[in-house]
Amino acid sequence: MRILIANDDGYLAPGLAALVKACEGLGDIDVVAPESNASGTSNALTLHRPLNLFTAAAGEQRGFRVVNGTPSDCVHVALTGLLDRKPDLVLSGINNGANMGDDTLYSGTVAAAMEGYLFGVPAIAFSQAEKGWAELDAAARVARDIVDRALAAVRERPGPWLLNVNIPNRADAATLPRVITRLGRRHASEPVIRQINPRGEAIYWIGPAGSAREAGEGTDFFAVSQGRVSITPLQVDLTDHASLPLWHQALVAS
Ligand code: MN
Repeated sequence: MRILIANDDGYLAPGLAALVKACEGLGDIDVVAPESNASGTSNALTLHRPLNLFTAAAGEQRGFRVVNGTPSDCVHVALTGLLDRKPDLVLSGINNGANMGDDTLYSGTVAAAMEGYLFGVPAIAFSQAEKGWAELDAAARVARDIVDRALAAVRERPGPWLLNVNIPNRADAATLPRVITRLGRRHASEPVIRQINPRGEAIYWIGPAGSAREAGEGTDFFAVSQGRVSITPLQVDLTDHASLPLWHQALVAS
């Protein structure tokens, strides 16, 4: 068994070390992670400069491969030349904060897992529901248990699949119910924050994510609000299949 682990919070993030430690004993583990925090970089690849790579020499990160790029860069480089063989599983996280609903489109955590999935490798993204790393050890135990069960699924269903897991920050996370969910929806983001820099010029900070808009029963938002571990199977096809006939009629048919 060979597992590739990445994240988007950067190689020094506690969530990455916790996930790596939780996977001890499962097989060969390769860690390839961004040099700095790359949250919110979605599936970006770095195409206009080369990427540098070094191996961390000390601490909990000893042996981690570090890339000065995005989460997708890390997994892409790992799968297309850095690793000598394809991993059986790609893991991402544990992220500092939720990745639910529309977050999944912006998330570097989900993107790192998605890069594995796009290369045909089963993949799981893990996030803690609240920022701040509270009860990280408990979240890591949840991740390990889900990995154990997913590895059995890999043997039975080798095709690629992609899971997005959100874990409440609770000491009893390992005993919380787990539910298979669909993505909810968020409201549009909060307004951009405008400030004046020391030169008198306007600068803008992207505002916080919007609150949940569609958070009904069955969604990831609902599950986490009820104190459950949310597991959403994702796919990548953005096609609006239901509207294909409508657009054919409107734009193509004579
Ligand atoms: Mn992050």
